[in-house]
Amino acid sequence: MSYLVLARKWRPTNFSEVVGQEHAVSALKNSISSQNIHHAYLFTGTRGIGKTSIARILAKALNCKDLIENSEPCNSCDSCTSINEGAAIDFIEIDAASRRGIDDTKDLLETVSYLPSSSKYKIYLIDEVHMLTPESFNALLKNLEEPPPHVIFMFATTDHKKILPTIISRCLQINLSSIPLKTISNLLSDIFSKEKIKFDDNSLDLIAKAAQGSIRDSLTISEKVVSFCNRNLKEKEVREVLGIPEPEIIFNLLKSILDEDVTEALSILDNYGEYEDHELLLKSLMDLVQNIAISQFEKKETKKNNINAFKNTDPSKLQFLYQIGLANLKHFSLSYDSFSILKMTLLKMIAFSQESQKKNPLENKHKSITEFHWPKMFIDLNLNGMARNLLKQASVSQEGEKVRLSFPENVLSILNEDQKKDIEKSFNDFLKKQSMFIYDSNVDHNLTPENEEKVMDKGFRRNLKKSMEKDESFNEILGNLKVDSIKFSKKDET
Ligand SMILES: [Zn+2]
Repeated sequence: MSYLVLARKWRPTNFSEVVGQEHAVSALKNSISSQNIHHAYLFTGTRGIGKTSIARILAKALNCKDLIENSEPCNSCDSCTSINEGAAIDFIEIDAASRRGIDDTKDLLETVSYLPSSSKYKIYLIDEVHMLTPESFNALLKNLEEPPPHVIFMFATTDHKKILPTIISRCLQINLSSIPLKTISNLLSDIFSKEKIKFDDNSLDLIAKAAQGSIRDSLTISEKVVSFCNRNLKEKEVREVLGIPEPEIIFNLLKSILDEDVTEALSILDNYGEYEDHELLLKSLMDLVQNIAISQFEKKETKKNNINAFKNTDPSKLQFLYQIGLANLKHFSLSYDSFSILKMTLLKMIAFSQESQKKNPLENKHKSITEFHWPKMFIDLNLNGMARNLLKQASVSQEGEKVRLSFPENVLSILNEDQKKDIEKSFNDFLKKQSMFIYDSNVDHNLTPENEEKVMDKGFRRNLKKSMEKDESFNEILGNLKVDSIKFSKKDET
C-alpha cells in the first residue's frame, strides 16, 4: 500500500464525512437536491477547516452522474473519480497566491466560454482568492456579472475583507467555522483507531488544542507525533514533541505566584529553560487560571487535582492574574527576548497579586497602566525593530507635559526622523495623550532598559524577594498599586 499523509488520506470525500460544518453542509445538500444552483460560491473561514475540501465535494455533486439520495456524490462515476484523482478536465483548481496577475486570470477566463467537455458544468475553484490583483478582480467581475449557464465559480479565502464588495455580492457566501476542540479529538480518535494507532485521551486533547480549530493542522501535527511516538501515543511524550509544559510545572508556577514567592517562581522558570516556548508556558498558566475561575462559578466538584487545590483562591485575584497575562501576551510577537517577557510578566503578577488583596484591582488598572515608570514601561511600549533597540539604551523621564529622552551620544547621532516618530507615537499611545519630546545625550546608564536586562542576568533573582521586602520605595510603590523599577542593582553589585 502506498503511503499517504494523514491529512490527504482522511480528507472527506462526501458531505457526510465533513466534520464540524453541519450548517454549511446541510445548506449545500439542500441546494443540490432542490436544483437551486448558484453560479458563484464563496467559502470563507480560517485555514485548515475544510473550505477547499467542501468545494471539491460540491463540485463532484454538481457534476455527478449518479447522485446518492439526490445530494451526495457517488465517488465512482467518471466525473467523481476524475476529480478525486485530480485529473478532471471540467474542474479547474487555481491557487491565487501563486497565480494572481492579470495575465494568469485572462488566460483562465478565456476558457470560460468553451463548453464543458463531458460534464454538466465547468467549475473553477480559486483558492485564496483575496490574493488576486485589482486588475484580476475586475476581469473576474465581468464574468461574474453574466456567467455562461455552464460555468460555476467557487472561491475560497481566509480573508474575505480583502475581496471587493461587488464580487461578494454576486456570490453565495458560505462561512465555515473553526472546529471545536472536542470535535477534533473525536475525529482523531476515530482516525487513529482505524489506522491502528494506540493513544490515550489526554494525547488527543493535547493535539486538538495545538491545532487551534484547524482539522488539517491537527492531522499534520498527528503525523509528527505518531512517528515520534512510534504509533503509541502517551501524554508525556506527546507533550515533549509539542513542547507543551508539564501540568506539574504550571501548577507549581501558579502556586508560587499565589504564595508571592518570587525566588521559587524564577527558579521554576530557570529550570524550565531559556530556549523553550515561553509564550506557550504563559498561555498554559492562563488556561489553568481560567479553568479554576470557571470551576468556581460552576460550583461543582472536579476530579482534576490541579484545579481543586486552588478552588478557594480569591476570584478577583484570578481575574487579575488572567488580565495581566492577557495584556502581556502581545509582547511575544515583538522581536524581544521572550524569556525576559515571561519573567517580567510573572513579577508583575506577584507584585499586583499582593496589592490586589488590599484594593479592588480592576478599578485601579487603568491608572496603573498609564503611569510613567521608566525603564519598566519599556516592555509595554508598542514599538518594533531598530527603534526599539535604540530606545533600549535610553533613560527617559517625564517633566510635566514633556518627555525627555536621553540617549548615548553615538545613538543620538544615528537616530533618524522616522525612528523618532515611531518612538514618540509609542509613548503617546501608551500614555494616551500627546506629549512634547525633548532629546539630549545626558543618559543615566543605570536607568536604561538595557541595564535592567543586564541586572536581571547578574543573578539578582536569588535576592529579589529579600530586596523587595527591604526596599522602602518598592513597598511604597506597591501601596499605590504601581510596579516601579526596583533598585536591585546597587544592592547586588556591592
Ligand atoms: Zn459521481
